[in-house]
Amino acid sequence: MNGTTDQTRHQDRVWSVAEHLDDVLSKIDPLDPIELQLLDAQGCVLVEDITVPVALPPFDNSSMDGYAVRAADVADATESTPAVLTVIGDVAAGSGELPGIEPGQAVRIMTGAPVPPGADAVVPVEWTDGGTGQGPAASMRAHSAAPQDAGGEVRVHRPAAAGAHIRARGSDVTEGEPALRAGTVLGPSQIGLLAAIGRGTVRVHPRPRVVVLSTGSELVQPGEALGPGQIHDSNSFQLTAAARDAGAIAYRVGAVADDAETLRSTLEDQLIRADILVTSGGVSVGAYDVVKETLAALSAEEGTVEFRRLAMQPGKPQGFGLIGPDRIPLLALPGNPVSSYVSFELFVRPAIRALMGLPEVHRPTTPAKCTEAVASSPKGKRQFLRGSYDAEAGTVTPVGGAGSHLIKAMAHANALIIVPEDTTEVPAGAEVDIVLLG
Ligand code: AMP
Ligand code: MG
Repeated sequence: MNGTTDQTRHQDRVWSVAEHLDDVLSKIDPLDPIELQLLDAQGCVLVEDITVPVALPPFDNSSMDGYAVRAADVADATESTPAVLTVIGDVAAGSGELPGIEPGQAVRIMTGAPVPPGADAVVPVEWTDGGTGQGPAASMRAHSAAPQDAGGEVRVHRPAAAGAHIRARGSDVTEGEPALRAGTVLGPSQIGLLAAIGRGTVRVHPRPRVVVLSTGSELVQPGEALGPGQIHDSNSFQLTAAARDAGAIAYRVGAVADDAETLRSTLEDQLIRADILVTSGGVSVGAYDVVKETLAALSAEEGTVEFRRLAMQPGKPQGFGLIGPDRIPLLALPGNPVSSYVSFELFVRPAIRALMGLPEVHRPTTPAKCTEAVASSPKGKRQFLRGSYDAEAGTVTPVGGAGSHLIKAMAHANALIIVPEDTTEVPAGAEVDIVLLG
């Protein structure tokens, strides 16, 4: 199905960054919703409208430690002529049994405890003598959690209006009200609300499982000694970390040698646990560019991956397609570490976020003043230089050069400076658009 003519046609055409991105996103739909435990749903997009089943708070409760009283009983209380009430018991948070309050009576009450019947106000402990009218020791006892003997007295020195220091049932949210709409991204406060209204699980688009594999016979795992001509595999680590950062569950597969059979069988093995596959290396025109050789030649049943040239630097060669029986998206990124990372940020991150159904899939961009001149940007290509952005000053300073092997410079950058296709130089002090890398 991937006939030579088709292949040639695609190779001849140069794709813009936007065209490639549109093509990727047009073939990606949010993952089917699943029911997840609350904390597993953090960062995910809700797919159901959630209604409040029971009002919050579910019952009138005290907002202070103090005494539940009848407001009428303390209406005339002053410092010199306190209202003297009989304390008939204690109500702690979680109390189920509530004593009823008659005129002249009070109940010691803790924050969050239900207001007992008959009471219509809470007097904070600071407005009282603390619970016996017998001096400071008793006042301290009133602050402790120890139950107070019924039959004691409390002197109240200030009046409290009806409803004072009572959090009324439903004052936060009432029964039947919408709590959260479908499409909401679940952050800590949304998860807190769901828990408060008693939801243990919610329906969301799950986090995609991203399988990251790097290719290259020169690659050695970090921690192992290098032989002649070998380098450490940094891409699979960088891309796996970037996938997690984008919100995915990421699986790093160790580097695969430049061997078609190994690559093919590794991909086959990995398909089972992947919602999206990301490879690095082997996509240009070298003799051992095994990713391209292998994936461009898939049978119709196996899927289709197209390899294209983009009007972009770094990151010119890119592969994208759908493979396996479930047509899992695969993005084949170039091997140079800066190229693979920039490609990830531009294409894979939005793809991951589209799979999550997130409303905003792109990194934010902002204009900034470029502190240094950019001498020669390639004509006809969108260039992404690494930059250090100073938000306070609104400036960005290029870090390192354009070389796509400059791993250290990448690690010291927090932004990508965009030099548009038709711009070949940027004078110092000129405004540029930058991608904020978070
Ligand atoms: P390739 O696209 O496979 O031709 O690789 C381009 C350059 O990137 C070569 O210098 C590779 O050695 C280097 N490279 C490829 N994969 C990795 C990797 N996983 N980690 C670090 N460098 C890599
Ligand atoms: Mg290679």
